[in-house]
Amino acid sequence: MLPASVLARGPCADGSFGIERYRLGFWRRTRVQNASTGIGTDSAERELRVDLAAAFRLAVEFDWHESVGNHFSAAVSEDGRRFLMNPRWKHFSQICASDLLLLDADDPEVMDGPNPPDPSAWCIHGSIHRSRPSARVLLHCHPPYATALAGLKDPTMKPIDQNTARFFGMVGVDLGFGGIADDAAEGARLAEALGNHPILLMGNHGVTVTAETVAEAFEHLYFFERASKTLMLAYASGQPLNVMSDRIAEKTAQDWLEYKGMAFAHFEALKDMLDSKDPSYRN
Ligand SMILES: [Zn+2]
Repeated sequence: MLPASVLARGPCADGSFGIERYRLGFWRRTRVQNASTGIGTDSAERELRVDLAAAFRLAVEFDWHESVGNHFSAAVSEDGRRFLMNPRWKHFSQICASDLLLLDADDPEVMDGPNPPDPSAWCIHGSIHRSRPSARVLLHCHPPYATALAGLKDPTMKPIDQNTARFFGMVGVDLGFGGIADDAAEGARLAEALGNHPILLMGNHGVTVTAETVAEAFEHLYFFERASKTLMLAYASGQPLNVMSDRIAEKTAQDWLEYKGMAFAHFEALKDMLDSKDPSYRN
């Protein structure tokens, strides 16, 4: 039986993906788990690599990247301990699917190998993937407006419009910044502050978003940066904020769930944009 939001479902021509038609009027590609053909194993990792590589390229398009730092990861094993992550100091605009490192969160020797990841990335992503296997994708960066919000004494995402209210009750906040994260204690503290929230606002630092898929994590990041921009612009006016009541903010956040599928339509459209500009991220 189909979920209430799905009108129709069927296979794609190449057999490796399904397709779903949503009531809100868009189609979404979905992976078909097919034990007899082995699809859903290597091809699933391949699909994940392409989507994660697209997220890096798109972060550049939106100006969320910062020099050759910051890091995105995606779990490939059910327990979250094996995950893909970007190599150290490779510019987001140059990352291809095949560049992504396949790491083991339990293997301390990974830092001694020939192509070690960034130690800060290892701490944050390793700790969260280990402790929150349901957080399949983690995107961590320092986009300008979210980072400005993270620098406020009170970095609460106050609900003053639909986009800010989207995050009502969804943000864990860490106010224990102790320098650039490069030890296990820092990673563990961040994992605890995230808790079961999909978003971690890292005080004096930046933001980390989590979701089940790259498309959904990217949509969180997209809306979180837009919401932060709106809130920071409202603060910059010097006028008092018209903050919604908890009841209206909660209702608005719930209303957003009806639009969950937007993330997939948006991400597919953005990948189409990349494909017409420079499809090398798929390599
Ligand atoms: Zn950072």
